Amino acid sequence: MNLSVIIPIYNEEENIPALYERLREVIDPIELPDGYEFIFINDGSQDQSLALIQTLAARDPRVRFINFSRNFGHQIAVTAGLDRADGDAVVIIDADLQDPPELIPQLLEKLRAGYEVVYAKRRSRQGESAAKKFTAKFFYRILASITHISIPVDTGDFRIISRKVVDALRRMPEQNKFIRGQISWIGYRQTYVEYDRAERAGGATGYTYRKMLRLALDGITAFSDVPLKAATLSGFAVSGIAFLVMLYTLYSRFITHDYQPGWASLMISILFLGGVQLIAVGIIGEYIARLSANVRQRPLYIVSDTNITPPAA
Ligand code: UDP
Ligand code: MG
Repeated sequence: MNLSVIIPIYNEEENIPALYERLREVIDPIELPDGYEFIFINDGSQDQSLALIQTLAARDPRVRFINFSRNFGHQIAVTAGLDRADGDAVVIIDADLQDPPELIPQLLEKLRAGYEVVYAKRRSRQGESAAKKFTAKFFYRILASITHISIPVDTGDFRIISRKVVDALRRMPEQNKFIRGQISWIGYRQTYVEYDRAERAGGATGYTYRKMLRLALDGITAFSDVPLKAATLSGFAVSGIAFLVMLYTLYSRFITHDYQPGWASLMISILFLGGVQLIAVGIIGEYIARLSANVRQRPLYIVSDTNITPPAA
């Protein structure tokens, strides 16, 4: 197999037929002596997505599918695709046509020129709310400033990766996946191609703010200890301030004698300290939750059925 295309699917019935057509139009003309495969991962869709994929699979033996037992999330769907992908090169692409299949030849060309990862970088993005664009922009900048590895900004998971990178990803056992970060962590020669991100072709986004927040926290906790250090630092800062206030209190009590029983300052310091402590505990909690998820060692996903043999790796 020369090329595998991984497509996570969550309620994409409106997009699957057009996506399949456009992928074939783009990939059929490419010289691939050992052929290609499309791996659709149905991530617990509630609409007709699964039926559509199965119809495609019945007509076209290159269409493979993995049907999850429930919604496990986009990153896990992509991981399942990577676990089963057979290609020397693997493309990860969204199903909603926001990632143009027409970019795949360019991605492949750069890969063949000697890169192991070619990611697609958004030059602009259309049809997304200002809030989404702002939070994404903000998140990627924050993440870049607190991690040691350089995770490219304004980049999703749309990319092509070589077999070497797929094998390396499969050796990373973490439960909380942040694939674009993991790929940066892996290294090798990486480059990018720029594109203008289109509007979603049909349907609605499967990424609720809750899922976005979870992805953001997974990315930060997996690639940075800075929040933990910030908790420690803010502890020191607050203690320092408290010490100064204590000195001032002693000074006014014994030297200047203009000591006022201070309800306000007492309240403020209690609230402030309480707040800082809660934040610190919360940050520690985020890391501990992920620790415990990894200690449990549950399988990442449960497959209900698939037409890929052998099934589980
Ligand atoms: N997706 C998924 N599981 C989910 C949410 C999304 O497999 O829980 C898929 C979705 O079908 C699409 C891709 O992940 O192929 C990106 O999702 P979406 O377009 O909703 O995200 P956005 O572009 O709004 O960030
Ligand atoms: Mg989308």
